[in-house]
Amino acid sequence: MAKGALSVDTEHLFPIIKKWLYSEKDIFIREVVSNACDAITKHKRLISLGEAEDDSTDYRITITANKDERTITVKDNGIGMNAEEVERYINNIALSGAVDFISKYEGESSSGIIGHFGLGFYSMFIIAEKVEIFTRSYKGGEGVYWICDGEGSFESESVEREGHGTEIIMHVADDELSYLDNEKLKSILGRYCAFMPYEIYLSEGDGESVINDTDPLWQRNPQDVSDEEYNEFYKKVFNDYEDPLFRVHIVADYPLNFKGVLFIPRRKSGYESTESEIKLFYNSVFVADNIKEACPEHLVNFRGVLDCPELPLNVSRSYLQNDAYVRKIAAHISKKVADRLNALFNTERETLEKSWRDMKPYFEYACMRDEKFGDRVRSSILFEKADGSFATVSEYLGDIDEGDVFYTTDKEGQSYYLGLFAEKGKDVFVFDNVIDSSFAQYFESKNDKIKFRRIDSGFEENGAAESEALTSLFKAACGNESMKISFASLGEEGAAALISLPEDSRRIADMMRMYSVSSGNDSFKMPNGEELTVNTDNPVIKKLESSDNENAADIAKHVYLSAVLLSRTLTAEEAKEFVRLNNKLL
Ligand code: ADP
Repeated sequence: MAKGALSVDTEHLFPIIKKWLYSEKDIFIREVVSNACDAITKHKRLISLGEAEDDSTDYRITITANKDERTITVKDNGIGMNAEEVERYINNIALSGAVDFISKYEGESSSGIIGHFGLGFYSMFIIAEKVEIFTRSYKGGEGVYWICDGEGSFESESVEREGHGTEIIMHVADDELSYLDNEKLKSILGRYCAFMPYEIYLSEGDGESVINDTDPLWQRNPQDVSDEEYNEFYKKVFNDYEDPLFRVHIVADYPLNFKGVLFIPRRKSGYESTESEIKLFYNSVFVADNIKEACPEHLVNFRGVLDCPELPLNVSRSYLQNDAYVRKIAAHISKKVADRLNALFNTERETLEKSWRDMKPYFEYACMRDEKFGDRVRSSILFEKADGSFATVSEYLGDIDEGDVFYTTDKEGQSYYLGLFAEKGKDVFVFDNVIDSSFAQYFESKNDKIKFRRIDSGFEENGAAESEALTSLFKAACGNESMKISFASLGEEGAAALISLPEDSRRIADMMRMYSVSSGNDSFKMPNGEELTVNTDNPVIKKLESSDNENAADIAKHVYLSAVLLSRTLTAEEAKEFVRLNNKLL
């Protein structure tokens, strides 16, 4: 029997491991199980090199929690170790790995390091007070038994053992007994080991169940993955009950060498700024969640998995933020997302239109945040028209591809104006998301021959005769001498007058309003630039103009308030006045 005390400052090491990883205790499972996977990979590799005999092993990893014994056992049938290897890899290397890790990151907060890799074997002492190993090398010979307590002293001796592989028995510490619960184990395995490359069995009662998918979808050829498989994958990995709206599967070869799948979730309320949900993997081994640093900033609302075997295992957030390789990955992802949208636009337009309402905010946001991305996809951005169909700005404008693009921000509230456009057979886009207006401004900034105009932004000058008498009558009726009064012929059946809000002053007013709401100071009111257009075809207006009427001032006021009614909600004062006028005039 060999006895010893693990060298270096081991008596300090274990408490540090525990303290350091307090927030992420669960990772011990990943460390142990990925070691088991590595041991199997090594065996397979030796066989393929002709250095080990092919004994047609049915490779597997088995995990068993025993509540009576208070143990968790992880067993593999990989290469195993002989006594010399236990001495070299477990007593020396594994330990020095942990010491290195701690000394390297001493002083840093543990949350800054994303992977927490490198602690490897000794991370088991986060939850175990004692660890035993039974192992036997594929080379045959005697097996090895090794036991180490939480203070770092170990013993080892040879034992009889069949086959090859390693069995690790963790004796769970008193205050960590919850790890013996199968449900808990299952959920941790689901998080950290869900895509490891060999079947992992969790013993349950008399039976056992496989907890992983050994062939993760992102590692496959996109041509071989069906829509259903992507949807199922998404729902499982991101705990969503609805299919995603959009996906792109990226397989980047040399020199970038990474794989990933990104999704747009179907969130009911459209665009919301949330923390990103990018899961980072290293050769199918889960590294960490919410790694927004690995994803282009403008796609931060996407969800997805990225598998980057080129990144160092102990990657930190600040590293990801500043690394040139990561920037190249981000640029590549951005290009692929743009390509995918353009491809859908060009070849699967019907499918795209089905989910476009919910998807559009994600792309509008991305265009505005990233110049290059915007340049790539701008011409594929669709707008919904008032009739429910979709068109791009170019399609709206037709061959000339310049001019005014009309929109409504409120189909109900602006329905009278919508009616005027419908009569003329003119299309109107519907902007029903706050981001739409900002996107329109962005679009204009990229093309100065295009102007977005809300449908109530004014009426064509169509040669209607102006009247000084009516102008002063209506100025008085509006109670605002500086109100602009214009004249248009809008049909006999049309309203006697209509309010218009010139686009630019209305946008400024909207902006100020948004600002004052967001700054909590909504006492600040900005005039929104209302103008009144009088319909010279309307019989009431004709009468007002041609004959003196003792009620002229009241009628003009009534006409004005009726126009306001078609444009916005009346203020309390206005409503009262409107009712008074109705009573009097009717
Ligand atoms: P790392 O895996 O990063 O090398 P670890 O501390 O996890 O470091 O493990 C140290 C070494 O112990 C491994 O490199 C390997 O040689 C050996 N080892 C650990 N677990 C097993 C196992 N299940 N089967 C065979 N060898 C193992």
